[in-house]
Amino acid sequence: MNPPRIGIIGAGLTGLTLAYLLQKQGIAATILEARDRIGGRIHTVAQNDSTPIEMGATWLGKQHTHLLQLLKELEIGIFEQQLGRTAFYEPMSINPPQLVQLPPNSEPSYRIQGGSSRLIQTLANSLKDEQVQLNQVVQSIVQKDQQVAITTDKSTYTFDYVISTLPPFLLAQKIDIQPTLPTACTEVMNETHTWMGNSIKIGFRFKKPFWRTPDSSGTIFSNVGPIPEFYDHANFEDNQYALKGFFNGAYAPATREERLRLALIQLRKYYGTKVDTYTSYEEVVWANEPYTFESYGTPILPHQNNGHSVYRQAYLNERFFIAGAETGIASPGYMNGAVESAYFVFGELPLRLLNL
Ligand SMILES: Cc1cc2nc3c(=O)[nH]c(=O)nc-3n(C[C@H](O)[C@H](O)[C@H](O)COP(=O)(O)OP(=O)(O)OC[C@H]3O[C@@H](n4cnc5c(N)ncnc54)[C@H](O)[C@@H]3O)c2cc1C
Repeated sequence: MNPPRIGIIGAGLTGLTLAYLLQKQGIAATILEARDRIGGRIHTVAQNDSTPIEMGATWLGKQHTHLLQLLKELEIGIFEQQLGRTAFYEPMSINPPQLVQLPPNSEPSYRIQGGSSRLIQTLANSLKDEQVQLNQVVQSIVQKDQQVAITTDKSTYTFDYVISTLPPFLLAQKIDIQPTLPTACTEVMNETHTWMGNSIKIGFRFKKPFWRTPDSSGTIFSNVGPIPEFYDHANFEDNQYALKGFFNGAYAPATREERLRLALIQLRKYYGTKVDTYTSYEEVVWANEPYTFESYGTPILPHQNNGHSVYRQAYLNERFFIAGAETGIASPGYMNGAVESAYFVFGELPLRLLNL
């Protein structure tokens, strides 16, 4: 019997984890990825010798057991996010920011040593180069009998089984699927929230962590904005420094220069001109990333329909699965949900492979 041909759409954490699991069983899946890079919503940007900055997924917790298990298996360590004992807090625009005491952190969050993209790269290293086809924008999925054809902007591929790992809303909006999926499924996909899909992340690198003094802090909580949250973002070795956090998503249409200007105005309120010593500025406007986000027609609430039961079924003559972080049941939308979803599909596939 020939080995099954398995096509995975998307080289994010779900797609790469699934390909890794299959590879361990001797099955070489093919991943079709639209971007010119792997990782999807995991995107650690590094510059030569300077601090890696997480522009996408950053934190995990002890409750994220699927992710922790995978990290352990791959021998990738984690380290605690330092919040410090104080934070700058800005409740309203008419009052100046205050330095407030933080309560002891009973449930700390953790980061991945070397950056979240280290997990992505380690998974990819288990595959042969040709298994991950970049710059392939999937446009249609057509099932006929026991086969599923995927057409990208460049080519057509035929598989025995296909797994989409796109955020389900994007899958519903962007990919033509034939025969059409049941209405109950497409209705749910069209109302499934994409976690952090319209967020903006920004980060500044510094030579020195000037905020680590008793009268300052790297942690910022502001209701005034446009930066609502900011954190110390030093590397694991704690010898390269950065501050990183979120920027109000409403500024997606603004220019990079405008966001940088507004960010510096806000940060000078806490740090004075020390903030102008930054060595580089990074940002990603996820709402402008067509392979992550598409505007919702009507508002969709955070995590709406995440982990829905429609994502636990196979479609197209049992040849097509809808995976991805938003389909996971435990912590959907997060890295843990992505890993759980990969394990779920992996567990479903072998039963069907026997029927080839
Ligand atoms: C700013 C931000 C912060 C986050 N912070 C955290 C955090 O702190 N902790 C946490 O646990 N999670 C966080 N997340 C969520 C986390 O990133 C996701 O849960 C996880 O990375 C999703 O992985 P995935 O593989 O399911 O989806 P994705 O990473 O979205 O992967 C889908 C892949 O499909 C590709 N694709 C899209 N369209 C096509 C097409 N037409 N053809 C081919 N390929 C296509 C995409 O390019 C992408 O590579 C954050 C996300 C963002 C954006």
